[in-house]
Amino acid sequence: MQVMMSARKLNARQEYRLKQRERIDGSPLIAKKFPRLKGLRVTLMYYDTKGVTKNGEMKCKMNVEHARSELWFSCSAGDCLAGDFNLSAALASAVAGHHKVAAGEIRCQGARKRGDRERVPCQALLRYRLNLDYD
Ligand SMILES: [Zn+2]
Repeated sequence: MQVMMSARKLNARQEYRLKQRERIDGSPLIAKKFPRLKGLRVTLMYYDTKGVTKNGEMKCKMNVEHARSELWFSCSAGDCLAGDFNLSAALASAVAGHHKVAAGEIRCQGARKRGDRERVPCQALLRYRLNLDYD
């Protein structure tokens, strides 16, 4: 598909968002990929890089009939570029092991601006928990 919009008009953040959107939309639905999975709840706890200060928490109940199996959540740092947490592998291995609960932590691989130009790794910490229900 030819994208008519000039690439120069997109900034790095928009370009990244577009690619992410394509990647997620191109992945199978959770219900298709994991037919035995009937329910999925995700708890996200956002921490600073040291893993000490909690910056927020989010809980969401995924609709397995409509949600995509590429499971990404964006970094809570507003200026973070290409910072997303990918829980797709965690989901896949939890389902493969028929686990009802899976928890872990991952770091943001994005970059944040420090000062005017310099970009530094974000490294924000996400602690997550997946609650899974099966047939
Ligand atoms: Zn980040």
